[in-house]
Amino acid sequence: MAEDLFKKLVAHCKEYGYVFPSSDLYDGLGAVYDYGQYGVELKNNIKKYWWDSMTRLHQNIVGIDSAIFMHPTVWKASGHVDAFNDPLIDNKDSKKRYRADVLIEEQIAKYEEKMEKEVAKAQKRFGEKFDAILFVQTNPQVLEYAAQKAKLTERMAKALNDNNLEELRQIIVDYKIVCPVCGTANWTEVRQFNLMFATEMGSTAEGASKIYLRPETAQGIFVNFLNVQKTGRMKIPFGIAQIGKAFRNEIVARQFIFRMREFEQMEMQFFVRPGSELEWFAQWKEARMKWHQLLGFGSENYRFHDHEKLAHYANAACDIEYRFPFGFKEVEGIHSRTDFDLSQHQKYSGKKIQYFDTELNESYTPYVVETSIGVDRMFLQILSAAYCEEDLSKEGKQDSRIVLKLPPALAPVKMAVMPLVKKEGLPEKAQEILEMLKYDFNCQYDEKDSIGKRYRRQDAIGTPFCITIDHQSLEDNAVTIRHRDTMEQERVAIDCLYAILKEKTDLGNLLRRI
Ligand code: ATP
Repeated sequence: MAEDLFKKLVAHCKEYGYVFPSSDLYDGLGAVYDYGQYGVELKNNIKKYWWDSMTRLHQNIVGIDSAIFMHPTVWKASGHVDAFNDPLIDNKDSKKRYRADVLIEEQIAKYEEKMEKEVAKAQKRFGEKFDAILFVQTNPQVLEYAAQKAKLTERMAKALNDNNLEELRQIIVDYKIVCPVCGTANWTEVRQFNLMFATEMGSTAEGASKIYLRPETAQGIFVNFLNVQKTGRMKIPFGIAQIGKAFRNEIVARQFIFRMREFEQMEMQFFVRPGSELEWFAQWKEARMKWHQLLGFGSENYRFHDHEKLAHYANAACDIEYRFPFGFKEVEGIHSRTDFDLSQHQKYSGKKIQYFDTELNESYTPYVVETSIGVDRMFLQILSAAYCEEDLSKEGKQDSRIVLKLPPALAPVKMAVMPLVKKEGLPEKAQEILEMLKYDFNCQYDEKDSIGKRYRRQDAIGTPFCITIDHQSLEDNAVTIRHRDTMEQERVAIDCLYAILKEKTDLGNLLRRI
C-alpha cells in the first residue's frame, strides 16, 4: 500500500513538473535527477527556509559558498580517501548490488514492523483504555522482538566498527537474508567500495592531477575556518553555513531522490570550546527537530536515531528520521565531529589552525558540532507528507482529487489568478491583480478550461490559494478566494489580497515561530 503510494508520488512528480529523470530523452541516468518548473521553486523555498533560519536568526552564523573542486590533499586529510567506503555485496543470481549494512538494517526494520503490528492489534482489541507504553514494556511477544532487534543491531554495529567484512556476510547468511529481487541467498563476498568520484584537472601535457568531486560540503567550511573567523571577527561559539552540491557514487540507487549520486546538502559547522561540544550537540538536536516539526506534518512522524557506528571523526551522532512511505529513514544528521577535521588540516597543510579565546586567555583547536541535511531528501520528505488522494464523491457522483498539501510558505505558486471567462474585461482585471501581486509573490495566471479543472491543476501542484474574477468583480472590486485544503470559498476585497497572502505564505511568519 505504502509502496504503491510511493510509486504514485514518483509518477506525480514527473507529470506535474516537479522532478524528471536526468537525460530523460536517453532513458535517464542512474540516480541522477533534474528538477522541473515547480520542483525548482519548492527546492529554492526549502533552501531559503534553512538558510534564513541559520544565518538570519543567528548573529553568530554566517554563510559561505565554496567550490566543488578542492585540493586533493583535503580528502586525504579528512579521511575520505582511505575510509569513505560502503560495504558492498552482490547477488550472483540477480546480479544486483547491495550495501551489506542496508540489507541488515532492513532486517532490523522488520522486527520494528512486527512490534508495531502487535501494538496495533492490541490497540484494536482494547480500544480507548489501551496503554501503548505499558504494553510495549510488558507484552512478552513485543519484548521478544525487541530483544532480537537489539541483538542484531549490536552484532551489526560491532562488525561495522571492526571493519569485519566476513562477519557482515555471516550475519546475512545467518539471518537468511535474501535478494529482494530474485529471492535467493547466493551472495558474493563483502567488499569495500569508495564512494568518491574522481576526475582529472589540467591537461595531460602539463601533468594532470587526480581530483575528487566533493562528497560533502563540510570540508569547504573547514578549510575556510580561519578566513571567515578572521575577516568576520567571529567569536567562538560561531557557525558557518553552506548549501551546495555533493557527489557520491552510491552503490544502491533505487529510491528516487532519496539516494542520489549528485545531490545537494545544507550543512552548518558550529565551532565551540573543547569540552562544551556535547551540550551544543544536545541543543542543536532540539533546534533542528523543531525546524522540521514546524512544517506541520505531525510530530509523531519524526524521531531521533542514535548511530550504532560512529564515523571516523565523531564522538556523538544522531539522525532525524521521518516516516517515509517506505519506513522511518534519515533526513538529517547531527554530528559532534570533535577537533578531528581542523586538526587534520593543520597537520596536512602545515599551517596553524587555532583560535585565541580572549575570555580564557588561551589558544585551542575548536570542536565542531555539525548539522547536515540533504535538500533533495527534505524535498522528498515534504512531498511524501503533502501528497494526498481525496475522495470527493457525493450523492452517487464519483469525484476525487490529488492535492499537495504543502506548507504555504514553501509552495511553488502562492496564488492562481483566474478570470471566470476569457472575455468581457475579466482577463484584463485578472492581469491587473497579477501585476499588483507579482513583485512579492509567485502568482500564476490561468484562463484555460473550466474553473473546476483549473482548481484541480492548482491542487496537484500545491497552490494554497486560487482567486476567481467574475463579472461582479468589475463592479465591487471583490473576488472569490478558494482555499486549497478545505476547498472553502469566500468573497474578499481585492485590496485585502496582499495582506492575506502575506500572512499565510510569508516565510518570515514561519521563521518567527522557531
Ligand atoms: P546514508 O546513511 O543514508 O547513506 P549518510 O549518513 O551517509 O546517509 P551524511 O553523510 O550524514 O549521510 O549526509 C548528511 C545528509 O545528506 C543526509 O542526512 C541526507 O539527507 C543527505 N544525503 C546523503 N547522501 C545522500 C544521497 N546519496 N542522496 C541524497 N541525499 C543524501
